[in-house]
Amino acid sequence: MENISQNTPQNLQALKNTKAQVIIVGAGLAGSECAWQLVQRGISVALIEQRPQKKSEAHKTGNFAELVCSNSFKSTDSESAPQLLKSELHSLNSLVLESAQAASLPAGQSMAVDREKFSASITSKLKNHPLVECYEGEVTHFEELSLPAEQGLKPVVIATGPLTSQSLAQSLMPHVGEKLYFYDAIAPIVSGESVNREIAFLQNRRDKGTTEANPDGDYLNCPMSKEEYDRFIEALGAAEKVPAHDFEKAIYFQGCQPIEALLERGPKTLAFGPMKPVGITDPRTGKMPYAVVQLRMEDTEGRAWNLVGFQTKLKYPEQEKVFRLIPGLEKAQFYRMGSLHRNTFINSPALLGSNLQLKKLPHLYFAGQITGVEGYIESTAVGAFVGTAIAFRLKRGSDLLPPPATTAIGSLLNHVLNGKIKNFQPMNINWGLVPLNEINERDKEKKPKLVERGKRNFSHWKALLETLN
Ligand SMILES: Cc1cc2nc3c(=O)[nH]c(=O)nc-3n(C[C@H](O)[C@H](O)[C@H](O)COP(=O)(O)OP(=O)(O)OC[C@H]3O[C@@H](n4cnc5c(N)ncnc54)[C@H](O)[C@@H]3O)c2cc1C
Repeated sequence: MENISQNTPQNLQALKNTKAQVIIVGAGLAGSECAWQLVQRGISVALIEQRPQKKSEAHKTGNFAELVCSNSFKSTDSESAPQLLKSELHSLNSLVLESAQAASLPAGQSMAVDREKFSASITSKLKNHPLVECYEGEVTHFEELSLPAEQGLKPVVIATGPLTSQSLAQSLMPHVGEKLYFYDAIAPIVSGESVNREIAFLQNRRDKGTTEANPDGDYLNCPMSKEEYDRFIEALGAAEKVPAHDFEKAIYFQGCQPIEALLERGPKTLAFGPMKPVGITDPRTGKMPYAVVQLRMEDTEGRAWNLVGFQTKLKYPEQEKVFRLIPGLEKAQFYRMGSLHRNTFINSPALLGSNLQLKKLPHLYFAGQITGVEGYIESTAVGAFVGTAIAFRLKRGSDLLPPPATTAIGSLLNHVLNGKIKNFQPMNINWGLVPLNEINERDKEKKPKLVERGKRNFSHWKALLETLN
């Protein structure tokens, strides 16, 4: 292929003459990483980005891989799942991770970055790469990208993220189903082992749905006295919130209000809403508590629990502070924090094959948050996998086996490919996604063991990939 090194993106019209082997829509975290993994393996790409011509509700610049909200790449604690994910990305020579490290700022046990330096470096590396052609403009219909290849059509990667433009999303609907637009009102998820069972108890409201096989019920209840409720409400009211974008305000009228917005109607609103105690009896007192926070199981093993109705826009550190005031959650470990924003994602477990290609249109791949992961590093990881998988297909003619679910990237892919089809929800990386298998839940060395096993299994998987070089 002709060497095209350019700083100025071409117009979308020019795309029909492209010699690039793979087309990527969206130069966000996932699209940029996907492009990088391909060019590292000698495969040319056409990378299309709508910004700065057309901006989303949250993006502000024309740079690739813009961070729309926080500048954190999560924990660097060596025993944490986000750090295992970063170590796997590092071993794949990830452009996103390398640029994050080069732009990192002091942030204790987290990786924070100078967002401008970070995005500028990714933009420059991709725009100046001889195997990358850059195009600017909104792709309004995925069929605009149906270009012939030696066999069939050129692979196209849809990496357009949570704020995928509406016309592109609409064009995909006949193939991915109507439920493509979501307003994501996410409640926090805590680890089951971190809930104090001397306070929280299993019970269904009015014992509805309990059976002989399951006499205790499905919900974990954290009961509150009036004093505890008042203290919680005061902290919730005072906590710092992420300001809402205009497009997010609209959804508050659609019945998925954040708890702090409910509170604005009066201090007792929550006690009559998501925290109503009706039908609950605290076994320690034999009485109905003043209020209750219910936790619903997220997985069959009860390792992850969702705080029901607690969608929130509180800043992440504030969520930890305020929600640990809930009796039983004093030492809660959070697998996922609450949030509320427009989120476009597809029902991947029903729609995608093992390399994240649409089963019905196999030249069409999906990467990033649109596949049903949540967060910067998670989206990057899916982009990295799709890049390597397409390289494998172009060079070997077959699908690449995803890394095992015991690895961080593998656990995310397992969620995306094998998650619940009914009510599939996006996920951050967390230990709850990683199967324990031979490792005991109560083992004090559980996390180091998960890390060691994950690293070992990832390096076996990577050896397979290295046969491509
Ligand atoms: C309001 C909001 C706040 C968030 N806060 C956080 C946070 O604090 N921490 C965190 O980890 N994650 C956060 N996220 C999630 C995070 O943004 C995503 O996980 C991550 O950016 C997803 O990466 P991506 O590459 O899939 O999508 P993006 O990074 O969004 O990239 C998609 C790209 O595709 C482009 N695009 C869209 N449609 C088209 C089209 N039709 N044609 C051409 N280009 C197109 C977009 O302009 C964009 O550049 C937030 C998301 C939102 C919406």
